[in-house]
Amino acid sequence: ALTAGIVGLPNVGKSTLFNAITKAGAEAANYPFATIDPNVGVVEVPDYRLNRLAELVDPKRVVPTTFEFTDIAGIVKGASKGEGLGNKFLANIREVDAICQVVRCFDDDNITHVSGKVDPIDDIETINLELVLADLESVDKRYKRIAKLAKTKDKEAIAELAVLDKIKPVLEAGKSARSVEFTDDELPIVKGLFLLTTKPVLYVANVSEDDITNADDNEYVKLVREYAAKENAEVITICARAEEEIAELDDDEKAMFLEDLGIEEAGLDKLIRAAYDLLGLGTYFTAGVQEVRAWTFKKGMKAPQAAGVIHTDFERGFIRAETIAYKDFDELGSEKAAKEAGKMRSEGKEYVVQDGDVMLFRFNV
Ligand code: GDP
Repeated sequence: ALTAGIVGLPNVGKSTLFNAITKAGAEAANYPFATIDPNVGVVEVPDYRLNRLAELVDPKRVVPTTFEFTDIAGIVKGASKGEGLGNKFLANIREVDAICQVVRCFDDDNITHVSGKVDPIDDIETINLELVLADLESVDKRYKRIAKLAKTKDKEAIAELAVLDKIKPVLEAGKSARSVEFTDDELPIVKGLFLLTTKPVLYVANVSEDDITNADDNEYVKLVREYAAKENAEVITICARAEEEIAELDDDEKAMFLEDLGIEEAGLDKLIRAAYDLLGLGTYFTAGVQEVRAWTFKKGMKAPQAAGVIHTDFERGFIRAETIAYKDFDELGSEKAAKEAGKMRSEGKEYVVQDGDVMLFRFNV
């Protein structure tokens, strides 16, 4: 499964947020394979469409899909030189598919800041610089080898060298490689470099309790948004401390708490959805009387591959997928009604699954 790593300097609220994630965590009993690693927090992906389908179908069981966050400890200045837990930190980041960087955007004199003052951009740059330096090392190593090969007129080497030539000066200027625009032909080459600074990043601006309602008026948050825009990164605001409290509430209490605060959606739910988007994930549904269930697929997947998310047999023996768009299911109210209205499509192997599809797979065993 794809996972987003949570990183941040000390005392920015990272543990508080990760606590909220594990407290809100999916029932361990439902996901026996997912909970072995204490650094992994499994959360259910909130989705109003699942609730609506459950209401319409009235099944025995409703199962949301899940998403994993990984807690990555140990970033300090000098990590790329192996200081502190530096090497371990970088190795852990290499394994995640996206980065959620928690940034301190709250003042609190009682909580010391590692660099002495609250300065979100400085914090972001401290972390990013370590990642940039690690990438520069990989790129430099690769560059020598590829430059030699390119001289022999090796086509692939020439193409890769062009990519390295684009990335190297950006890294040397201390900037992330994600700020570089690549062509469609270059993207697979970039992917093959396994860089840290090309991973999609989400800045999680941690604001104080007082700023929850108007987080975007917070000056620190404004700075983070400006910075993120320049490097094609996303930002969400959250109050980690409040999330830790919210995570202990049941659904009704949670709704009341949010209403009191005057916000529509819990920060954690925002975070889950943003991370899901960041990874290019989508949800399709199966809706039977036994079970209505949400499944995660990677956008762009064709029907057989998406069926393989449920079971490899579904992919191997795939014949076709009876498909109803969520919107049609919602409007028409049932599979039967959708079928009668001609809204149930029989899709084959080349069908690209769409977010919200309600699917029934036909397969040979
Ligand atoms: P970490 O070192 O990044 O894991 O930071 P922690 O989660 O341990 O938080 C450091 C301190 O900041 C703790 O005392 C938290 O209670 C506090 N803290 C975290 N989030 C918030 C917040 O949203 N508002 C305030 N006022 N304090 C917070």
